[in-house]
Parts: sequence; structure tokens; C-alpha cells
Amino acid sequence: MRILVQKFGGTSLSSDKARSHCVDHIARELKNGYRIVVVVSAMGRKGDPYATDTLLQLVRDNGDRLPPRERDMLLGCGEIISAAALCSLLNSKGIASIVLNGGQAGIRTDEQFGHARIKELHPERMLEHLRVGTVVIVTGFQGSAENGDLTTLGRGGSDTTATAIGAALHAEMVDIYTDVNGILTADPRIVKDAKPLPVVGYAEICNMARQGAKVIHPRAVEIAQQARVPIRVRSTFSEDEGTLVTDRPELVKGYVADKHVTGIAHVAGITQISVQAIEGRTDMQLQVFQTMARNHISVDFINVTPSGAVYTVFDQDAERAVSLLRSNGFEPAAVSGCAKVSVIGGGMNGVPGVMARIVEALTEQGITIMQSADSNTTIWVLVKEPDMAPALQALHAKFELHL
Ligand code: ASP
Ligand code: MG
Repeated sequence: MRILVQKFGGTSLSSDKARSHCVDHIARELKNGYRIVVVVSAMGRKGDPYATDTLLQLVRDNGDRLPPRERDMLLGCGEIISAAALCSLLNSKGIASIVLNGGQAGIRTDEQFGHARIKELHPERMLEHLRVGTVVIVTGFQGSAENGDLTTLGRGGSDTTATAIGAALHAEMVDIYTDVNGILTADPRIVKDAKPLPVVGYAEICNMARQGAKVIHPRAVEIAQQARVPIRVRSTFSEDEGTLVTDRPELVKGYVADKHVTGIAHVAGITQISVQAIEGRTDMQLQVFQTMARNHISVDFINVTPSGAVYTVFDQDAERAVSLLRSNGFEPAAVSGCAKVSVIGGGMNGVPGVMARIVEALTEQGITIMQSADSNTTIWVLVKEPDMAPALQALHAKFELHL
């Protein structure tokens, strides 16, 4: 049995017309000989009926008095509605389909309502239907705890449902259908000549996703990578095959082996915090990071030296972080309104000159690098928010990503 998982995002399901495009993609792949699991998100975006954010709006006025367990029951409705709508359309076109919710599809999670993790996936029930050629529609972003309670996997979790199912069923491919033509070299709203990439490695896409490219959830990529299931990120509204994500991108036609940089991503809304060492307080480093950890403030861009610690937090955590540090006897300095710009490329490891070109591109624009860090596939720089767009444009041009 050749199995294909097709995941459709909110905009792909938001209208009759959009859903008819989904049906076309399903019909085509059935003709190509695949047995198909379709994973759906909730329809549309904030404000649209049945969108996840719209459902949340329903209870917002009550000061969020809904307990997490019941909140998950509310959130789960969006995907159920999408699934039923698609099922009726498929059946009306003569394509037999059935809807399974997360639990019915065999997705067992822990009990962390709102951000549950998948513990096991029992695909037998999906397989029974696939064997007779029925299209199995699974509600994304949800599972069931040991006792049958509905749990959700965290925002954007439908991608995770899709790759987890792909891994469990040894699918040939997981197609993530969205409203863009694949993964782009940069955000096209900022970099006008950003272009879709034909193929990228898992590590690269994972970095891009974590660093602000919203096209796929990083956890979904990790699951696919472990199971070595290829992913294709593509548009519902075209026949274009989009971007292939695989562990051997160099084997795929269209891969440019000597490109050291693949894409550029960005995250704004970041505050840089600097804490100076205080004479006689040898516990400074420990105190600072334990304080952040105890208060669930996530830290990034960490740079620790004997003379102090510099790191970043999200703007919304900054005030709390600073006052916690003050009450610990430190005198932190905070610079809010910063942005993290990531230059990503699986081919940059061990290549001399990548950082030099980054510094060159930014210096030419008069942009100050406030901090930097690197791994074997990414170099990050912290800049002031107003410098973010010019930095992205300059880096995109310097590494000739438009070619
Ligand atoms: N509907 C959920 C959300 O908006 C899950 C998803 O779309 O991936 O977060
Ligand atoms: Mg999504």
C-alpha cells in the first residue's frame, strides 16, 4: 500500500471554493495510486466562523474561567467542523471518506491540556479504512489522553498530527498544503524578490521554522526527520510541487550544492538583558538563570562571561525579568524592541567567510550588530527592530538568494 498524508491548513479550507481545490488534490493523488490520510486544520483565520481564534473569542469575556480540559474540548471543535465539511464534499464527488477524531485515529497523548505531547500512535483503525480505499480524514491538532479526554497539541499542531501519522504509517510523503508556494528564501512581505526553494534539509527548515518562518511547525519537522519521511510544503491553489524537505537534499534535482546560505528568517519583539557581575557574588550566573527558570521565562542568545551575562527574552517577559533580577540585588540593563535575524544554511559549516559577509552586508547599511551566535547551520544576529527589514534585504542580496 502506498500511503500519502495530505494536510490542509486553515486558509485551504476556509470556503467552498478553497475546499474544492483540496478535493482536486485528493482526487489526483488517488488516481496516482495512493491511499490517503487527510489531516485538517480549523477553517480560516481569526474572525472567520469556526477558526481556532474565533472559538477562543467565545470565552474571552469570562476572564478565561474555562479550565484547560474544557478549553481543549472547545478548541477541538474547529477541526471537527472542517473534517465534516470536507467529508461531505468528498462523498458528494463520489470519493468515499470517513472522519476520525484524534483519539479515534489512535493518537494517544499525555494529559497536558493545551500542549499535549503524543506518546503513542495506534494506526490500526486508519489502516482498516485505507485498505479498502476509503479516504481517512483526521482532525488535526488533537489526541486523546489515557482516560479518553480530548487533548490539543498546541497552536499550529495540525502539522504535527500530519507528520506523526506519516511516520506511524510509513507514508511515502507528507504534503503540507498552505497558501504559499513552498518555503521561501525570506518573508516576501519584507524581501520582494524572495523565492521558493525547490528543496531543503530538515535541519534548515527546522531552524527557519523556529526562527520565525511560519510555514511549518518545527515539532512536525523533528518527527518527520526522525522517521525519515519526506515533507513537501506546497500551495493548495496551484499544481506547483512546492518545496521538498528531505535528509539528503543534495540528491534532489534543483539543489544548489555550493550555496552556503539557504534562507533568512526573523523574529521581532525581543529584549536584550545585560547583567554585570558584582564583586563578591560568585553565584551571579547561577542566580540569574535559576531565577529565569523558576519563573518560566525562556531565555535565548545566551552569552556568559566572568564579567556578566547577556541574554534575550521576549518583550512581553522583559518587565518581569528585570524586576525579578532587581529583587535579587542585580542591576540589569534592558534594551527592548530588538529583532533576531537568522542566516540559515546546511552548507555553511566549516566554510570560511560567511560571518565576514554578514558583517559586510550589515556594515554597508550602517546596521549595528548588538550580539551574535552561531551553530553549524545558522548564524544569528540581534539588531534593533527598525534595522530588521533593511538587514533582511541586505543579507538576501549579499548571499544572492534571489538567483
Ligand atoms: N487550528 C489549530 C491552530 O490554529 C491547529 C492548526 O491549525 O495547526 O493552532
Ligand atoms: Mg499551521
